[in-house]
Amino acid sequence: MATPVTPQERREELKLVYEQARACVRCRELASTRTQVVFGAGNADADLMFVGEAPGANEDRMGLPFVGQAGKLLDQLLSEIGLERRSVFICNVLKCRPPGNRDPHPGEIEACREYLMRQLELVQPRVVCTLGNFATKLLRGDPAGITRVHGREEVRVIGRRAVRLYPLYHPAAALYTPRMLEILRADFHGIPAVLAKPAPPQPEIVEPDEPEPQEADWRDALAAAPAEPPPPTEPAVVQPSLLAGLEPPAPPPETAADPPAPEPEAEQPRPGPEQLGLF
Ligand code: SF4
Repeated sequence: MATPVTPQERREELKLVYEQARACVRCRELASTRTQVVFGAGNADADLMFVGEAPGANEDRMGLPFVGQAGKLLDQLLSEIGLERRSVFICNVLKCRPPGNRDPHPGEIEACREYLMRQLELVQPRVVCTLGNFATKLLRGDPAGITRVHGREEVRVIGRRAVRLYPLYHPAAALYTPRMLEILRADFHGIPAVLAKPAPPQPEIVEPDEPEPQEADWRDALAAAPAEPPPPTEPAVVQPSLLAGLEPPAPPPETAADPPAPEPEAEQPRPGPEQLGLF
């Protein structure tokens, strides 16, 4: 398949990726406990993308990212810098809610990473704001925590795209800590200056003459039968414990064994305009 080039082609491809994600059962526990996949929403041709951690209860119910209290704070901070939600693209590292709002497991982050990479490739933002530790460590490919790197812009190549990465505290953490809100607001007010910079030079991508095998492999992998996510392999990159104290108190960890995977087509609601119409 030809690489989508125009904004309309990229948007149509994004819809296809959404269709694949909404039937995804790669993480058996998440697939069996979610209400629906929360793929992301916003402008499919946005210059600015926000990447959070994972859907919470409200997001899981509504199918949209950042619709609870943290979302309201995000909207408020956006308005303070003259932006609104529909002008940016918002998504999460995980597209499904971890039960009880527990931290994402490393295997789940790895399993879901391909969707995020495709979103980055297709939306083509110039600036990516990571919200909190999980997104920051994943997209920086470095274990440095958000406390050390927030508010510092840097150019990073993520997948096939070079972007200006600008880590921020997660709004949910700022809800409970006035000092953190102060820092988040100050960092947020730095976004326009980052957006005003020119787009970073893109790495040279050599397109093969033959149909690209990786594309087919990627689609096959996502369409594959239910599979357990791989066991944690990179604890240094994603350290859930480093979020301790930054996030609302988590309920007791799940102890039950993995429930059986659902029948994907029977469990998934059909996508409606409230989802597809938003990107
Ligand atoms: S890989 Fe992503 S979309 Fe698929 S089940 Fe896991 S969290 Fe959900």
